[in-house]
Amino acid sequence: MLSKILNHTDVVVELDKDLKKYSTMRLDARGDLITVKSVEGLKYCLRELTKNKISYRALGWGANVLLPTKTEIPYIQLDFEFDRSIFDSPKNEYILPGSVSLATLTSHANKYGLKGWEVFTGIPASLGGAIFMNAGTNLGEIGSVIKEVNLVTKNGEEKSVIIDKSSFSYRHNHFVDDGDIIYQARLIHFGLDEAISKKIKEYLEMRTRTQPLKEWTCGCIFKNHHDKRSDVTCRAGLFIDIMGLKGLTIKNLQISPKHANFMENRGESSFEDVMQMINVLQKEMKLQYGVDFETEVEF
Ligand SMILES: Cc1cc2nc3c(=O)[nH]c(=O)nc-3n(C[C@H](O)[C@H](O)[C@H](O)COP(=O)(O)OP(=O)(O)OC[C@H]3O[C@@H](n4cnc5c(N)ncnc54)[C@H](O)[C@@H]3O)c2cc1C
Repeated sequence: MLSKILNHTDVVVELDKDLKKYSTMRLDARGDLITVKSVEGLKYCLRELTKNKISYRALGWGANVLLPTKTEIPYIQLDFEFDRSIFDSPKNEYILPGSVSLATLTSHANKYGLKGWEVFTGIPASLGGAIFMNAGTNLGEIGSVIKEVNLVTKNGEEKSVIIDKSSFSYRHNHFVDDGDIIYQARLIHFGLDEAISKKIKEYLEMRTRTQPLKEWTCGCIFKNHHDKRSDVTCRAGLFIDIMGLKGLTIKNLQISPKHANFMENRGESSFEDVMQMINVLQKEMKLQYGVDFETEVEF
């Protein structure tokens, strides 16, 4: 069905594909993948899917999603060409495709000391996925350096959003509507400062020391919980650690011995194993502390 309705040089359809490599957790997953190479291709693709009443989902680097064993709707991934000479020297602003990796941006920021770009140091993500999630570290959030976002709507129309203070909140954007896909963004920085390179290096070292960055994970499982009455933030990782659940194992899935808010897939873990682990942790935390922790990872 998909390959019959999508016929465009910039749209590649692969049916029942092994999607294991398409998420950082490397869960066993199969499904239909649509790779789109241009904005014209994206407009065509979303228009045709909507016309044919086919739901879809955007996929970046799969660093915050758990792919089910058999996906029922196609995933759309962007792979736009762009002129990489933009990174040959520092610019005042950058117009970049949603498919560029944050690692590329961090490496540029590190080289020239771009102030403000240190906020996303070490986050595995595509630019589109990071904007969607308002990804951030304790140095700040990516939303602070985004000026404009360009999207294609489910009807295949282009939409431009000028970013202001109300556009983002903690790990959320407030402008992507159902079915919209971010294909481009305009980024700024706050000047050049040699100290930024040192900050990026130190932050990367700290992350490598404290997080299982070489293992197959999906980043933090739970969002930290902010209790409004006491104005206290409960750190999910700390709570799991205090309960002695670091190292807890379900088949080949383990709560990371390095950081309790990460799960490591040590090979052949399934979506069901992950769900089971999340349920166990949520129940224990509710029982012990009376707190409902919301998952950060999407499924
Ligand atoms: C080891 C590790 C460490 C991590 N550390 C951090 C951290 O410090 N801070 C942090 O914030 N996150 C962290 N994460 C989580 C993850 O990196 C971020 O959430 C990131 O923003 C996900 O980007 P992605 O491109 O992988 O998006 P995906 O995981 O593929 O998608 C995430 C969501 O964005 C949507 N989406 C993706 N692309 C687009 C697009 N172009 N248009 C519209 N919607 C889109 C998807 O549909 C999905 O809903 C970590 C993950 C790992 C594995």
